[in-house]
Amino acid sequence: MFSYRHAFHAGNHADVLKHITLLIGLNLLQKKEIGISLIDTHAGAGIYNLESEYAIKSEEAIEGVLRLATYCAENPDGIPEGVINYFKEIGHLNNQKTKSIKTYPGSSQLMLQAMRVQDQLKLIELHTTDYPNLVENMTVSQSAYRPKRSVQMYQKDGFTQLKAFLPPPTRRGLCLIDPSYENKDDYQFVLSALRDSIKRFATGTYFIWYPILQRRDATELPHQLAEFCNDHRLPYLQAELQIKSQILTEGLAASGMWVINPPWQLKEQLAMCLPFLVKALGQDDYSRYELTTKD
Ligand code: SAM
Repeated sequence: MFSYRHAFHAGNHADVLKHITLLIGLNLLQKKEIGISLIDTHAGAGIYNLESEYAIKSEEAIEGVLRLATYCAENPDGIPEGVINYFKEIGHLNNQKTKSIKTYPGSSQLMLQAMRVQDQLKLIELHTTDYPNLVENMTVSQSAYRPKRSVQMYQKDGFTQLKAFLPPPTRRGLCLIDPSYENKDDYQFVLSALRDSIKRFATGTYFIWYPILQRRDATELPHQLAEFCNDHRLPYLQAELQIKSQILTEGLAASGMWVINPPWQLKEQLAMCLPFLVKALGQDDYSRYELTTKD
């Protein structure tokens, strides 16, 4: 089984970019009343303790959500709406009075909190430890926040399972594809999952997270995604965030979100958030963001 555990990385800069983009996109899609199928192909454990030995050992949240929270507290004017909403969702799991963040919501918890009664949530996670953690966390959360919502969980391979849920009954869907890329074949699995999914559901909104690394398969993925979208005439948005020089760091310095069929106004909202994130999280002159779209 894989050794990747998201608990080491929860709340890092890549989660900040991913979860802010996801929440803005979901809120925009929810402007229409009709229900949406929310599908998380790599759900993780749902909720993470930032004081666990994993989180303390990696210290990744310190460069991510915790640094952003400190920056917002010190610079309360002009915080973009997307960042305010992100902290509102994190606040559900934390002490509102002290404002300290000890618990971090993963993508599945964020979607659970944001879903409406007419939406459906399908969570897929393969890991033998994280799957039972996910079930336990989501069961507790659902009864606390979202009773009467439709939440289903599957211990399966997210890449192949995705197509089984498409097209969704309401023909409205948000799919998050967020592998760890620990398995080097994940780069190709992302593309094959998209090929299968688009055949069944070409109008869905697909959010794909990717790491920016000096490795051939990683550098090729955004080019392959662009080619895929161009071949299928699919509009897309690409958002990237780098917080420090890649050369001087052992860990991840940058990552991106690729959104196929991006909701209207996602670009405008991210255009407010990304420069703010560079200011808040940037550690050196290599800090940067990228935001491009193609209709
Ligand atoms: N989406 C989560 C979030 O944002 O909070 C984080 C997910 S983490 C980057 C990737 C997860 O995928 C890990 O929990 C890992 O165990 C799981 N995983 C790895 N291979 C998988 C597969 N083929 N299908 C489903 N889950 C898989």
